[in-house]
Amino acid sequence: MNNSIDVQYFKKLINIYNNMDDDSIAKYARYKSEYYRLFSYIALIIGSVADVGYLVSDYLINGTLWPVIIPRVSVLFFLAIYLILESKVSNYKIKIMMNYTMVHIVLWSTMITVYFLKDKTHFAEGSYTLNLFLFAIGLGARPGIALLNYLIFFGEIFLTDLFNHYPNLDIVMSLNIPVCIGILVGLWALNLTTLDHYLTENMLNDALVTDNLTKVGNRDKLDMIVKDNKLKGMTGPATISMIDVDLFKDINDTYGHEMGDFVLSYLGNFMREHTRVGDTIIRYGGEEFIIIMDKCPVDDGFERLDRMREELSVRRDRPVDFTISIGVSEYTEEFDQDLREADSAMYDAKRAGRNKVCRADRNK
Ligand code: GH3
Ligand code: MG
Ligand code: MG
Repeated sequence: MNNSIDVQYFKKLINIYNNMDDDSIAKYARYKSEYYRLFSYIALIIGSVADVGYLVSDYLINGTLWPVIIPRVSVLFFLAIYLILESKVSNYKIKIMMNYTMVHIVLWSTMITVYFLKDKTHFAEGSYTLNLFLFAIGLGARPGIALLNYLIFFGEIFLTDLFNHYPNLDIVMSLNIPVCIGILVGLWALNLTTLDHYLTENMLNDALVTDNLTKVGNRDKLDMIVKDNKLKGMTGPATISMIDVDLFKDINDTYGHEMGDFVLSYLGNFMREHTRVGDTIIRYGGEEFIIIMDKCPVDDGFERLDRMREELSVRRDRPVDFTISIGVSEYTEEFDQDLREADSAMYDAKRAGRNKVCRADRNK
């Protein structure tokens, strides 16, 4: 077993993270906040209850619970509001903001309590334990947000120094700054290992809905995007098409089944190269494919598919000369019916001599 730290692996992850576009970063941030949601939730409950538990040390310092019991116990009031809102809010950014707000509430509860303590030197230990909290909540947040909240944390210490006059601010800072640096570096490293987890999970999920031979979507992928006979998440007009390889049996018979497979994998690759981000390609059967074009009126879809068919028929790098026939229909929010129409239009293309695109005739 190789026991050394894999630096290359970290370099690779840093590279991936730095090259992610805004959309991918936002998706990952949402995943991370969801992944650590329960952890943050438990950490906030334990942290808030522990803050109230510090009444014991307050009593040991002051010999009375009055008036420190007010700032300490009021944390439970904010915790109750947090717990109610947490399940109602769905936006992950607001959730992270709420988590950090709770951390700062506990911090303020500590700092107001210190105002009433006879011996304020113990704020050094009090503030120090808050690092655990900043670490726990930082796990679900982006590294930049964790840094920002550390800056706010130090700002709050300086601000409260105006009325608390900490007798040992130098000790407070010299204890907290190294821990802050350590935690931020740790959160940054954990951000990368969580990214690795996220990428692996995505890869496995993709593999489950990808056809092994052609690398386009499989029938499970189709089940994923069609719910109750409707295309999920598609807003604008859409074009549906059924594609079938012409005289494919002859390819198998003449050149062998392996060449047939190679033609299918070539076609899968060709279609992926000739479609857009919003398009979905599905291997529907042996040598039959569906392409669903989102935000694409049927006239445009027809044009694009015809260009694709034409280009394929003259490609010089085809493993053998082969063509495709395509049937096109307009999505009318009745997916099964629309697909049947595309299929029947595909047979029209076969009857018309193959290597053609035919449009579904609604008046038939
Ligand atoms: P047409 O132009 O009318 O479509 O003629 P065709 O010969 O393509 O007819 P059809 O579509 O009915 O033929 C499908 C053939 O595809 C039958 C089957 O042996 C072959 N096939 C299905 N799946 C695979 C596969 O994964 N690999 C290979 N090599 N052949 C397959
Ligand atoms: Mg067929
Ligand atoms: Mg065929």
